[in-house]
Amino acid sequence: MANSITFLGTGTSSGVPLIGCGCPVCLSEDVRDKRLRTSAYLQYEGLRLIIDAGPDYRQQMISAGISNPDAILLTHAHMDHIGGLDDVRSFNYLQRKAFPIYCENAVEEVLRKVFYYAFNEPKYPGAPDFEMHGIKAGVPFSIHGVEILPVRVFHGKMPIIGFRFGSLAYLTDVSHIDEASFELLKGVNLLVVSTVSYKKHHSHFSVSEALEAIEKLAPRQAFITHVSHRVGTYTEFSSQLPEGVFVAFDGLNVEF
Ligand SMILES: [Zn+2]
Ligand SMILES: [Zn+2]
Ligand SMILES: [Zn+2]
Repeated sequence: MANSITFLGTGTSSGVPLIGCGCPVCLSEDVRDKRLRTSAYLQYEGLRLIIDAGPDYRQQMISAGISNPDAILLTHAHMDHIGGLDDVRSFNYLQRKAFPIYCENAVEEVLRKVFYYAFNEPKYPGAPDFEMHGIKAGVPFSIHGVEILPVRVFHGKMPIIGFRFGSLAYLTDVSHIDEASFELLKGVNLLVVSTVSYKKHHSHFSVSEALEAIEKLAPRQAFITHVSHRVGTYTEFSSQLPEGVFVAFDGLNVEF
């Protein structure tokens, strides 16, 4: 079976439409302008992986018909990437075991605060059951023998993780990539990278910064995610991008 990525959510932290906003993007009737919080589902070398589990996680699992994933990988501990983790309870129930979560220690520390009830001993019956696996930037790890490379990127001042799966790299909430990480990302054919606006932002690539990173890595195809209403509608934003660079949208599936 081919490797593929399905974009489960491609919206910035507030999602699109933004609650209460009456701008043309938020009022657009194009389904590609309805963006849940950023998350992806990967089928990679026989693994079924979820990247990030924000507040729309439950809806995303149901819409994509995901029934038996192997693990959730977390990029960082902002709420739009972890807020839905309580709902791994469904997989605990169906799989009758703790659910594997892969993240850096700093992310686990936040999970222990936000989801304190899942870590309490003795365990409250029905609380989510997380099987925590620590990962380190730049150090490959394996799930069922399949290797994945966590790559250090920066989200403002915060060090976070992007992931490389063979020829695919997935980088969300990134505002800086240092040279050592560019080296680790060399040769990717498919690059997923985030942006939120044309204007410079303290913790996210602007559109031009995202395009610079794409140009530097020169993948065959690049997809933009974590999109906000500030970049225009899907159609408007798409028309501004160079050849080979596409705006991702919820439900899009791409083979790699
Ligand atoms: Zn985010
Ligand atoms: Zn809006
Ligand atoms: Zn973030």
